[in-house]
Amino acid sequence: MSQDSRQSTGSSPEARGASELAGTSSGSEWLSRYSGSLMGVFGTPQRVLVRGQGCYVWDADGKQYLDLLGGIAVNALGHAHPFVTSVISSQLATLGHVSNFFTSPTQVALAEKLLEVTGAPAGSKVFFANSGTEANEAAFKLARRNAGTAEEPRTKVVALEGAFHGRTMGALALTAKKAYREPFEPLPGGVVHVPFGDVEALAAAVDRTTQAVFLEPIQGEAGVVPLPPGYLAAARKITRDAGALLIVDEVQTGMGRTGTWLAIEGSGIVPDAVTLAKGLGGGFPIGALVTFGGENSARLTAGQHGTTFGGNPVATAAALATLHAIETQGVLANVRAVGERLHAALGALPEVAEVRGRGLLLGLDLVTPAGVPEGANLAAAVVDAALEAGFIVNAPGPRTVRLAPPLILTAEQADTFVAALPRLVATAAERLTAEKETK
Ligand SMILES: *Cc1c(COP(=O)(O)O)cnc(C)c1O
Repeated sequence: MSQDSRQSTGSSPEARGASELAGTSSGSEWLSRYSGSLMGVFGTPQRVLVRGQGCYVWDADGKQYLDLLGGIAVNALGHAHPFVTSVISSQLATLGHVSNFFTSPTQVALAEKLLEVTGAPAGSKVFFANSGTEANEAAFKLARRNAGTAEEPRTKVVALEGAFHGRTMGALALTAKKAYREPFEPLPGGVVHVPFGDVEALAAAVDRTTQAVFLEPIQGEAGVVPLPPGYLAAARKITRDAGALLIVDEVQTGMGRTGTWLAIEGSGIVPDAVTLAKGLGGGFPIGALVTFGGENSARLTAGQHGTTFGGNPVATAAALATLHAIETQGVLANVRAVGERLHAALGALPEVAEVRGRGLLLGLDLVTPAGVPEGANLAAAVVDAALEAGFIVNAPGPRTVRLAPPLILTAEQADTFVAALPRLVATAAERLTAEKETK
């Protein structure tokens, strides 16, 4: 369609944009409509966002933000990436959904591509879901199929303290945080949580009754906490010796986030399965379970698992386009270079006690400025100050700020945040101190 003919049909139904369908309001009007119509599980949204481009987004009042959270490690190529956008649009205009009674070229091509980039051995297979929690549900069912024998049944699954694996009932059973779990008990049984990073505790918990161990290479929601060196190799040995599966949740760390396709790349281990989601679709919802090797790939048989939407042509086209752009546009090298630069520059600031993580998944622990009360949520106050200054970041803990920006973040963009951070911490500290004094 030429530019002219598109303009001439501007008032026709097919030319209407979503903003025309939704209408326009100011930020504060949208928020009051939000609280009147959306369930309160997320609290009050920080801003109403209407547009994105590259590493920037704009709110309903026209204010611009550098997006250093990337939709929580999702917007791998930033916002409105031209190639991903055009592939999604043309796939949707060609074939949008078919159900898993059928397959489609993008589904098959994406599965093959995932087996390639994850370095999966011969016989490995892929199951597509729509989210991280669903990928982990599939992995949990895979674990249950490592059932042992009638004489020696396996009934136990081991996960780590601090773990976050999702919010649906199975994934929630693997998630450690009491506040997320307790309102929904009883959860699927047999899950035990062992102390984080403690090889001896893992060795003590894993035995012939263990179906699987679930691990995140870097715990994202816990505040970007990497497993200690050598832990993955030890976990691999412990699980193999006991006949238990090692299932690695790379929902947050995978698909280039840490500068390699998988965070476990280079650890030398071959897991039994890996789960993926967040960055995989470049912003389009998709998750995946990759089973490593023929034996693991045969554990779930016809009829034992399924999904209506999972692996549909549009979602798999989005992921295929995202992986293609990461591969052909030097994105992994950018993640390593900008990640190392950010890591070093943030670590050198007196306001920062520690920087953790790898590539473009970083957690910074802030030094508590004098005058800020003990129990105050400094990181949340920094998030607010950052928003006012035009930066989106997140606070997974009261002293911890998380960065998970688009993988295409430039060094110059990263530097603007490093330059601003001392002022953001000072602003947050002034407010928290003033609040204490007025109490
Ligand atoms: C976000 C996340 C999940 C859950 O993904 P959803 O898409 O929110 O369901 C699971 N595991 C890890 C490690 C995550 O970071």
